[in-house]
Amino acid sequence: MTCPARVTLDAAQLAFFDALPAEAPSVQSELGCELELGHEGSHAALGQQVDATMWWIQWTLSASEINPYTWCPGRGSAPVVNRDELDCSLFMGHPGEHSSPGRSRQASHAS
Ligand SMILES: [Zn+2]
Ligand SMILES: [Zn+2]
Repeated sequence: MTCPARVTLDAAQLAFFDALPAEAPSVQSELGCELELGHEGSHAALGQQVDATMWWIQWTLSASEINPYTWCPGRGSAPVVNRDELDCSLFMGHPGEHSSPGRSRQASHAS
């Protein structure tokens, strides 16, 4: 059960993501929250990953911002840099339950 909230990125936010040295394709202008349904705090969607840093868009009804995070280690120990070894596909310190890698995303990191 995933939170149904969605966010539309503004031009400045899209420009920020375009400027990142990421090999992944461009970020979509509309993203959905990846947290558990009924979570506390801001909504969150992964925008882009650069090495061990991932940039999440976090938003409320009135504002949105982009923040850098490392991966949630799930039930393991931090830091985790290889997503394939993760128990969870969310960011460190996220609210709600851990999520399963690849549950809602198709991104497979072959390197
Ligand atoms: Zn949400
Ligand atoms: Zn987690």
